[in-house]
Amino acid sequence: MQENPCRWCNTTVANILNNMEYTGCAINFKSSTVSYKVHDRIRKPQEEWQIIPNTQEPIIDDETFQRVQEIRSHRKRRTSTGKKSILTPKMFCSDCGAKLYYHAGKHIKDGSEYFRCSQYKTNRFKCSTNHYVRDSVMRDLVTETIRRVAEYVTNFEPVFLYLYAKKNSEATARNMRATRSRIDKAKKRLTELIKLIMKVYEDHVLGSLSEERYSMMAESYENEQKTLKQQLETDESALTKAEQSTTDLKSFLKAIRQFTEIEELDEKTVNTLISKIEVFERVKIDGKLHLPVKIHFTAVGIIDVPTEKEILRVMEEIRNNSKPQKTA
Ligand SMILES: [Zn+2]
Repeated sequence: MQENPCRWCNTTVANILNNMEYTGCAINFKSSTVSYKVHDRIRKPQEEWQIIPNTQEPIIDDETFQRVQEIRSHRKRRTSTGKKSILTPKMFCSDCGAKLYYHAGKHIKDGSEYFRCSQYKTNRFKCSTNHYVRDSVMRDLVTETIRRVAEYVTNFEPVFLYLYAKKNSEATARNMRATRSRIDKAKKRLTELIKLIMKVYEDHVLGSLSEERYSMMAESYENEQKTLKQQLETDESALTKAEQSTTDLKSFLKAIRQFTEIEELDEKTVNTLISKIEVFERVKIDGKLHLPVKIHFTAVGIIDVPTEKEILRVMEEIRNNSKPQKTA
C-alpha cells in the first residue's frame, strides 16, 4: 500500500476545507480582472463576494464547515524556516489585543526575526500600526526584567509584599475573613436545622404537633436549609479560589529567587514566570524611539521595581506602621 495514494499536498486539503461552495451555496464575484487591458485576475475580499445559499446539494453541513473554520483559525503558524520563538505564546498587541505573530522567513537574517501584530497584515482597520519588535530585543528585555524583579524580590521581600498587599490584597484579606466567619456560622446553623427538623417530625408523630403546624414548620426549616447550603457552596468555592492565589503568590516568590543571575532565557523559565507580554506602539521621547512593554508575571501581574529612594521610604513606612500605637 502506498502511504499517500492521492498525493494531495497540504494546500489542496486546505483549499477543500476552506471552500464554502461545498456547503451548497454559489459564490459570485470572488475575483475580478485588473482592467480590460490587463487581464490578471485579482482575488476580492470576502466582504465583496455575492453568496447565494442553497443552489446545489451540500457536501458538508454549515455547522461542520463553521467548526472547521474556527479550528483552523487557531492553528499554530509554522514559519517557512521552521524557526520558533519561546516568547510566541505570550506576545500580545496592546492596541487590539490580538496575538503578535513571529516572522522568520528565509529572507530574514539570523537574529532579525521579529514579531508583528497579526491584525496589521490582515485587517488594517482593526490595528493600524504594526507593533514591530525583534525577537532578540524582546528576549533581552524579558531576561533583564526577570533579573531585576528577582533581585528586588530577593533583597526586599518585605517591601515587595507590603506594596503588593497595598495594591491587591487588603480588600481580599478582609473578604476572606468575612467569608470564613460566614462559613462557620452556616455550618453551625445547618447542624441545628437537622436537629430541629427531626424534633418537629418526632412531635408530629407523637401527636403534639398538628398536621398543619408541622407542615408549616418543616417547610420553613427546609427552605432555610436550602438557602444556607447554596450560600455555603458559593462561599467555599470563593475561599478555595482566594487561597489558591495565596499559594500561587508563595510559589512565585520561591521560583523568582532562582533567577537573580539569569543570563539566557529558556522555555521553562518563560512558562513558569511569565503569563503575558503586551507590546505597545513605539513612542519618541527626546528624539529617541522607545518601546513600551508590559510584562505580566504569573500570579502577581505587573511588577514595578521601585527606585532605591522609594524602597527606603517604604521601609520607613513599614517601621512606623509596626510601632505599637500610643494610647493617650
Ligand atoms: Zn494590533
